[in-house]
Amino acid sequence: MKYLVTGGAGFIGSHIVEELLRRGHEVVVVDNLASGRRDNLDAALRDAGASAARLRFLQTDLLELEAWAEQLAGVSAVFHQAAIASVPRSFADPAETVRVNIEGTARLLEACRRRNVRRVVLASSTAVYGDALALPTPEDTHPAPLSPYATSKLAGEQLLAMWVQEFGLQAVPLRYFNVFGARQDPASDYAAVIPKFITRMVSGRPPRIFGDGRQSRDFVHVEDVVAANLAAAGVTGEPKEAAWGRPINVGCGRSATLLDLVAALNDVLGTDLQPEFAPPRPGDVRASMASIERARELLGYEPRVSFREGLARTVAWYAEQMAARATA
Ligand code: NAD
Repeated sequence: MKYLVTGGAGFIGSHIVEELLRRGHEVVVVDNLASGRRDNLDAALRDAGASAARLRFLQTDLLELEAWAEQLAGVSAVFHQAAIASVPRSFADPAETVRVNIEGTARLLEACRRRNVRRVVLASSTAVYGDALALPTPEDTHPAPLSPYATSKLAGEQLLAMWVQEFGLQAVPLRYFNVFGARQDPASDYAAVIPKFITRMVSGRPPRIFGDGRQSRDFVHVEDVVAANLAAAGVTGEPKEAAWGRPINVGCGRSATLLDLVAALNDVLGTDLQPEFAPPRPGDVRASMASIERARELLGYEPRVSFREGLARTVAWYAEQMAARATA
């Protein structure tokens, strides 16, 4: 089968690409490398043990459909990961966020309809809940976006639901919680907390916590997020019909505080580094934890990688990268 992954050179997208290749499929990637890397695709090919002939990379903007939409012919499903994927960046450039995340999604959905691609999985986010009061948070919680990024993800979900309703698309928005694993970029100003902490702690420096460290997150390993994507697209088993158009949380259903994270990383690394504390950042959510009942029921999803195991694998990957860079 042939699949198309937008944002396939990014962190999560490249893991979806890798798993599709491992299963023997052909994959087309559309990515402008705004935050993704060609290296991620090389790594996906290598780690899947796949021949380069099964991967087609189009370095192009999602919105330039004339450059790539013909690639949708014969595609069994689209995994739509491409986005401005950062809350601070969405405040810095709200118009670009609207353009890529909302207009890009609308145009992609329409292109899929025109070319008879019925299956689309959309990367949405826990950010749509804002500071949710109910923990674990079920999908029918009233959305309360706190950033242009969150608003753009909610709009993408709503557009997708309309294409399901009006045109019979079999599409699902997955609300990812805090995803972590190999290939997540630690260098950018917008980097997520786990790669930032790991890269500091691997080199013996203390992690920096904004606030008191008691803020909690549902950290989900990228392997589980890939499994949810493949289930939602019908690559592995068939989702229940009630899934179409309905947002589905993808988390691990537990939460850890940043202090727990530092302790777990000290444990994995065999260190005893104490965090530095800085003033809390405005807009940071206090607590987050997914209810994963809907994912279980509609997708047969079950998180497999424990927090400790996921951190150990991720630390090993960053340590390898840093050692390779040091000897280069
Ligand atoms: P990422 O930045 O690594 O991946 C995004 C990819 O999209 C990059 O490869 C980038 O180059 C590409 N891209 C951006 N704009 C583009 C455009 N105009 N045209 C073509 N390609 C473009 O981020 P990620 O963490 O892998 O996120 C993937 C998706 O998951 C995003 O939609 C993000 O909003 C969502 N998400 C991620 C998390 C997380 O914890 N990482 C949580 C919730 C939701």
